[in-house]
Amino acid sequence: MAATDGIGPIMSLMSSLSRHVFHPLWDLKDGSRRLRILRELERSQWLALETLKARQAERLSQILRYAAAHCAYYERIFRTHRFDPEHLRLPAFQELPLLTKANIRASTDEILSREFARSALGEHRTGGSTGVALTTYFDRDWREIRAADALRSDQWAGCFHGMKIAALWGNPPLPKTLKQRVRALLIDRFIYLDTIDLNERSIEDFIARWRRAKPEILFGHSHSLYMLARYVNAQGIRDLRPRGIISTSMMLLASEREVIELAFGCKVTDRYGSEEVALIACECERHQGLHLNIEHLYVEFLRPDGTQAAPGEEGAIVITDLINRGMPFIRYRIEDVGVPSERRCACGRGLPLMERVTGRVADYLKRRDGSMVAGVSLVERTLTAIPGLEQLQVVQPSLDDIVLKVVRAPDFSAATEQALLSEFRTVFGPGINIRAEYVAHIPQERSGKYRFSICRI
Ligand SMILES: [Zn+2]
Repeated sequence: MAATDGIGPIMSLMSSLSRHVFHPLWDLKDGSRRLRILRELERSQWLALETLKARQAERLSQILRYAAAHCAYYERIFRTHRFDPEHLRLPAFQELPLLTKANIRASTDEILSREFARSALGEHRTGGSTGVALTTYFDRDWREIRAADALRSDQWAGCFHGMKIAALWGNPPLPKTLKQRVRALLIDRFIYLDTIDLNERSIEDFIARWRRAKPEILFGHSHSLYMLARYVNAQGIRDLRPRGIISTSMMLLASEREVIELAFGCKVTDRYGSEEVALIACECERHQGLHLNIEHLYVEFLRPDGTQAAPGEEGAIVITDLINRGMPFIRYRIEDVGVPSERRCACGRGLPLMERVTGRVADYLKRRDGSMVAGVSLVERTLTAIPGLEQLQVVQPSLDDIVLKVVRAPDFSAATEQALLSEFRTVFGPGINIRAEYVAHIPQERSGKYRFSICRI
């Protein structure tokens, strides 16, 4: 097997069993088409750009017609703007209003397709890339197709499903039920470092578990990878050697990439995606930019005046999801900034490139004992766990002071503030002044970047 799949002879027996036996069996049990779709995607990535663009145009036309026929929201928007999805013209499409997170919160019922019962849809509740709480929905086909997308881009980082993965994550999903435990043993083979609680002891413990488990892949938020890498470099640790590293969820700074690659002796693969529209773009093994997932998305980069940014120019990223019929996302303003590209990657894949994401920065907050807290994970966890919050930004002017800038949601109550303060006291310990400051909105920076947390120490 190793000879044909090109991943070398050292893939462990367990990884091989997981990939070739347990994964297919589990899919069979669940009636999932995920691995079949993956095989199609492994082929289609090599098609010519023109072929991929023609398919994309066809899928765009299909989802627009679908939304017009099944979603009250788009029916209305298209009618108001005299947009005819039966005769798709790109200039007319690019005149349609953007779908914002505020639109989604205000009109969820209207955006959802009448064809699906809400109970039949999967649900994401997320802090989102801008710290705004948002609930979105997806249908089953979407879940399977987008899971296959992730598996394909994992391969670009040398990661094949079934491999053991070391993941840096906030609130890692630890298995509880028997089914989850079996799945963790055979299918989702992870060891975790919880980035909500990053300190010397938790890192040492993680490294000890790493040495026992010998993960083949390291996966996590870019800045968390960087924090771990700095520790590893400072301690002169040189035996943590994954086959690949996948950096996700935030922009990866060039300086951080260098530190991470030094620490673990292999290349970092930068990936960009979000809960609500899944994988958007990912580097391949050549690391010459991020291949856009145009098989399942239509991606635009917009100037402040709404016109299309030129290659090399920063623009607000706007996504049309070509797959999700349960809750169509049409011209969704994801609130990230990125740079489109005209360059072609040397790998030969037809999928076009974007240069980079420039709009996600999260600062780490500091505890008195010197340990760090990933602001992004903390904000994400808080927004997801505590009802009544619309948006949250954590500002730390000094070691002893934390200011929580809060935009209240309609269901805000006194209990919200109590839960919020108590959550932060638990994380930062006693003796810290933590106060909530209520604001109408939390502005982005001039660059369009948004910060979950600002550490001024
Ligand atoms: Zn490439």
